[in-house]
Amino acid sequence: MTFNEPIFDAHIHVVDTDALDMLVEISESYGVKESLLICHSLGARNYAEKTYPGRFIFAKYFSGAMRFVDGVDTILKEIATLRDEGYHMAKMQSAPVMRGRTAAKPDDLRMDENEMARVFDVMKDEGIPFLLHLSDPDTYYSTRYTDTSVYSSKERDLDELEGVLKRHSALKFQLAHFGSQPEIYRLDNLARWFDTYPNFNIDTSSARWVSRELSKDPRRAREFFKKYQNRIVFGTDCVTWRPERDYYEGRYLALRLLLETAIKQRPLPFTDTDTVNSGGTFINGLDLPRSVLRKIYWLNAKDFYAEFW
Ligand SMILES: [Zn+2]
Repeated sequence: MTFNEPIFDAHIHVVDTDALDMLVEISESYGVKESLLICHSLGARNYAEKTYPGRFIFAKYFSGAMRFVDGVDTILKEIATLRDEGYHMAKMQSAPVMRGRTAAKPDDLRMDENEMARVFDVMKDEGIPFLLHLSDPDTYYSTRYTDTSVYSSKERDLDELEGVLKRHSALKFQLAHFGSQPEIYRLDNLARWFDTYPNFNIDTSSARWVSRELSKDPRRAREFFKKYQNRIVFGTDCVTWRPERDYYEGRYLALRLLLETAIKQRPLPFTDTDTVNSGGTFINGLDLPRSVLRKIYWLNAKDFYAEFW
């Protein structure tokens, strides 16, 4: 790895503040100077700002279970105080597993329907960008999301996500996890979204999912990065549950190897539970040009969130 300019990690979480200290230290050793920090409590947000002034922009965390359990009015209340609490944006973890946890039916309260539009409209009015995680790896749908009373297909979930982009064209979105479509055969659909909806970017988290899938056809993945180099931001999705040095190091190392190098069949530097029984996960580097790396690592995030500096 030879890239030695600043890196912006546009997707990390703070739960535990001791673990955040470790994550900051390790991320720095991988070149990270600033981050978008998703905060699971106001106390953690305030700690981060006081301890690391100027390092973070702050996203308030919303569990995707909230809309099924507490309803839209509770979300609206939380959005109303977001700015005063010092947050810049909102993040919702609304992976299908949230339906499972709350036994919501496959078509209960879709994100792209009228009830949720009340939330999106307020964010639009207040100029609050939205970081959204709505779907998951193909591997989860074939192994974990098989109960059809709760889950349906990935195609249905992507349709819901596209519905959100289409309906709320005046709102700015960061779609987590490569828009939930790093699987090579899904890149054409993601390209269609980029060409159709100008109001979103995607991040490169998670390190495991994105490294595994893009490594399957590095030539195609490289072309994709070059074509959409203005719409992709670097992000790891490191979550600070507890101080875990190996976990943080593994994520930064994996993504930097993927993006910057031309390595072939290098084992992922940590265990991929999705492939542990089927031969493992290997990184094939995309060897991106420096000008593209500069955008993905820094310029795109600084540009997308320019209003917050
Ligand atoms: Zn996340």
